[in-house]
Amino acid sequence: MTSLGDAELALCHQIRQELHRYPELSGAESDTAERLQRFLAAHIRPDRVLTGVGGHGVLALFDNPHPGPTVLLRADMDAVAVHETSVASYRSVHEGKAHMCGHDGHMATLLALGFRLARERPEAGRVGLLFQPAEEDGTGAMAILADERFQALAPDYVIGWHNLPGTALGTLLVRAGSFACASCGMAITLTGKTSHAAKPEDGVSPQVAMCRLMERFSALSTPVENDEAFALATVVYARLGEPAFGIAPGDATVMVTLRTAADHRMQALRQKAEALVQHEAEQASLQWSIRYHDEFAATENHPAVVALMMGAAEEAGLVAETVDRPMRWSEDFGQFTRRFQGALCCLGSGESCPQLHNPDYDFPDALIEQGSHFMLHAAKRLLSVSMPA
Ligand SMILES: [Zn+2]
Ligand SMILES: [Zn+2]
Repeated sequence: MTSLGDAELALCHQIRQELHRYPELSGAESDTAERLQRFLAAHIRPDRVLTGVGGHGVLALFDNPHPGPTVLLRADMDAVAVHETSVASYRSVHEGKAHMCGHDGHMATLLALGFRLARERPEAGRVGLLFQPAEEDGTGAMAILADERFQALAPDYVIGWHNLPGTALGTLLVRAGSFACASCGMAITLTGKTSHAAKPEDGVSPQVAMCRLMERFSALSTPVENDEAFALATVVYARLGEPAFGIAPGDATVMVTLRTAADHRMQALRQKAEALVQHEAEQASLQWSIRYHDEFAATENHPAVVALMMGAAEEAGLVAETVDRPMRWSEDFGQFTRRFQGALCCLGSGESCPQLHNPDYDFPDALIEQGSHFMLHAAKRLLSVSMPA
């Protein structure tokens, strides 16, 4: 079995640290895309490299004259707006931006897979390494899907992974069905009428409606995580009037994040939340409006792809475990599993690894070898197995 040479592994660690040093936020990954292209051209030389896919996306293809399925493996490219506290030599040089979600490691691992594939080309079918921008804000997958060059590929299978702190290094965690929650941000505006603070009865204050809404949103949650009915409404922000002692408030904003295990549950939760807003606003004679932001579909894993991933992990010498409940976070990978047979999984980044988006997080380089080994086996199995629809 093809393993990575020491020199190749060293190059993968080096590019991971280079990507870490120059992080870019969602939608602004132009420099990252160039670094990836340079690395692919210098070291891996796939048959084709498509650039500017769905924004700053890069797609490296290993073609084959013998027909077979098209398998895509996806890594995300963007960093997050967190101030890094590391003293490592490769710490972020861009103030307030850092790879605190490990997407630098996801990219390096996909490049490591490229080394393996370049040496051991698929015997039939086609493998694509997809570097996807703008995962954090939920827009990247949709932009990739809208790109005609991506559509022309018509992939049969799409798989992705995320590193997971708190779990032993290299342990695969996966489950069939919902793996990551659907979520969306709901921004509510309540509008009444300001008045002099000495004569509040002359105005229409949203104060009571706002407080009642915040309380009643909490009651929408059904925190039974291993149940498909799991739903969570988290108030994340609230504002009433202006910071002026002379004015009774005339408007309010409440922001709440809604989260469910399945997409159809999200529809139901949104309707309940909207009905609450309408009721409380009408009771208080207020105008109201709702806007939705950061909408993520649930990631629904195909059972046959999950079974195949479990086998691939064991072949790669990794511990494979199924989890009994979806991850609470959301991933825009759900847009791929809506359209193609595919699955998202997690690989443990170590029990002592700081949590994602924390200022002291750093992707463990040791995961690059294990992750690329696992993905090679997963790709090979997908290329050779004929799957039930
Ligand atoms: Zn993240
Ligand atoms: Zn992430």
